[in-house]
Amino acid sequence: MANPLHWSSLTAVSARVPHDLLSWLAEPGMLTARVRALCGPAMEFRRLGGLRESALSTPLRERLQVDDETCLLRNVEFCASGERIVFAQTVLPASTLGHYPWLHELGDSPLGEALRQVDAPLEREPLEYAELPAGHPLAEAARVVTGDTSMWARRAVYRLGGLPILVQEVFLPELLRVQASARSHTEEHTMTTDPLPFAVPRPTVAISGTAARFPVHRIYCVGRNYAAHAREMGSDPTREPPCFFTKPADAVVANGSPVRYPPRTSNLHHEVELVVAIGKGGKQIPVAEALEHVFGYAVGNDLTRRDLQTQAKDHGLPWDVAKAFDHSAPITAIRPVTDGGHLTSGRIWLEVNGQSRQDANLSELIWSVPEIVAELATLFELQAGDLIFTGTPAGVGALQRGDSIVAGIDGLDTLRTTIV
Ligand code: MN
Repeated sequence: MANPLHWSSLTAVSARVPHDLLSWLAEPGMLTARVRALCGPAMEFRRLGGLRESALSTPLRERLQVDDETCLLRNVEFCASGERIVFAQTVLPASTLGHYPWLHELGDSPLGEALRQVDAPLEREPLEYAELPAGHPLAEAARVVTGDTSMWARRAVYRLGGLPILVQEVFLPELLRVQASARSHTEEHTMTTDPLPFAVPRPTVAISGTAARFPVHRIYCVGRNYAAHAREMGSDPTREPPCFFTKPADAVVANGSPVRYPPRTSNLHHEVELVVAIGKGGKQIPVAEALEHVFGYAVGNDLTRRDLQTQAKDHGLPWDVAKAFDHSAPITAIRPVTDGGHLTSGRIWLEVNGQSRQDANLSELIWSVPEIVAELATLFELQAGDLIFTGTPAGVGALQRGDSIVAGIDGLDTLRTTIV
């Protein structure tokens, strides 16, 4: 096949499309038939030849990291059913098919959807966009259907277990691209056409009942959200409303993993909290719709350098060094709402070395979960992958090296942490 795109000739496509676009795609004689006619039979792997002889671009060869290896091409497939169009032409190194033989068996399922269901974490590099040049078969097909609307390709490189396994290119009419970029402006800002100099792992949290993991986008925290705790910290809950602060996404610590006593503090405190995991983003979310954005719930410990927090409060300084330090957010597996529903009440407790320190009820939250989500979404655009620590009840206290912390909320996993 000719290679009018500068980055590669290989493509796999999986795109969510708005309903109005689907309706014209579904009309007989429209793009579907044209692309089918252009692309021939689907789902056959055939030998593409050694990469050195192939039409693959140098950046792509570098991404696949298999300079001398034979690559296989799976032919284009195209369909417009349900909520997706899939238009796929995939190039895979032969060794990748050896590692992941199920790639042969994807059938008609959208490729990206199938990949999201595998056990190993699927990583995606930042998206890239390029306009299809005039003369590209897809650009021609789109021109016939849509007039002068230009076609764009969006490329994503996926890695499985660190191994680059495929490149997806999503072909979009210009209008759809603009809509997509409006929805995901952060990806636009960070897109790159250059190779990344090193990999940065994405923090994740376990999800109970599945091997899939929850990718962490941001961690928001609520302060002073239980009246008794606000009072024990010297605040008046009738005058000072709850507040927000943040931790870095990679502050999460898996349940059971030990936490080193952090440096530059001599007063490390525990704070057991209900954690809300966001599954659908949004801004200006009404309270009545807020729970629709919740993916699930977990138990977290908002570890705090209390001495540094006191200094920060006394001097009007930010709380980052007190709250946002490394390994400051131990958390259990997330229980999906689909498994256990929402939480409005239930015991929340924490013990250190078998002695009760915190024991309260979720019903005592000053801002309820829907109110927290709604309030936060007036300040930030929430995104799937956000975690919200909802505040701690009274009873916070100091931890020492060797302490064993056990904490829970009715219906969720028990969080176990040792300080070493
Ligand atoms: Mn807290």
